[in-house]
Amino acid sequence: MNIQSLASSSKGNAYLISDGNTTILIECGISFKELKKRTNYVVPSNIDACLLTHQHLDHSKSLKDLLNAGVDCYALKETFEAKGVSDHHRAKSIEFNGFYAIGTFAIVVLEMKHDVPCCGFYIHSMITDEYLLFATDTYLIKAKPTLVNYIMIEANYDIDLVEDGVQRKRLVQSHMSIETTLRYLRSIDLKFVKKIYLMHLSARHSNEEEFKRKVQAATGKPVEICAE
Ligand SMILES: [Zn+2]
Ligand SMILES: [Zn+2]
Repeated sequence: MNIQSLASSSKGNAYLISDGNTTILIECGISFKELKKRTNYVVPSNIDACLLTHQHLDHSKSLKDLLNAGVDCYALKETFEAKGVSDHHRAKSIEFNGFYAIGTFAIVVLEMKHDVPCCGFYIHSMITDEYLLFATDTYLIKAKPTLVNYIMIEANYDIDLVEDGVQRKRLVQSHMSIETTLRYLRSIDLKFVKKIYLMHLSARHSNEEEFKRKVQAATGKPVEICAE
């Protein structure tokens, strides 16, 4: 699978995933203009679909533009409702534990724990026979896939870098700390993992080099920090 991070932070998220046959966008949290530019105009005409995890603007900014450009968008019912586009014929509602086929990708929707309804994805490519786990904006990942080749996972903050107060409380109940990310990675079978991508690092509460080093040390796998 070809995995490209176009944006990854609280300012915007977008990832382009392709197996050579099917190309999907996961998240569309940057402007439509930037989406087009950063994908060299693969968006919107040459993608098969867009998947969204939840309604927050840093994941959904271009949703309306994509729908209107004729792109099938898959998200939870609550996400479309919050964005006011439930009636759009390109808006495809998905459910936790549901199974969906998009071209040569088979997708299982996973439940995430955020401060609004949020899902993750477990994606299999029939072309490459590889599995991708995608999980962000969550303080807990329940699913433990037994077979995974690529992991895209949030590592938002290091609690030691977060000041006491309201924001700290919100973070703990909505995002993944590096400790939670590490604990999760240690709890699953990493035997077939080729690469781990760390997503959605907080500008103020994370340390790129340290996060990368920690995850590499804990897993023995190549780690890439998704570019902002
Ligand atoms: Zn976010
Ligand atoms: Zn969010």
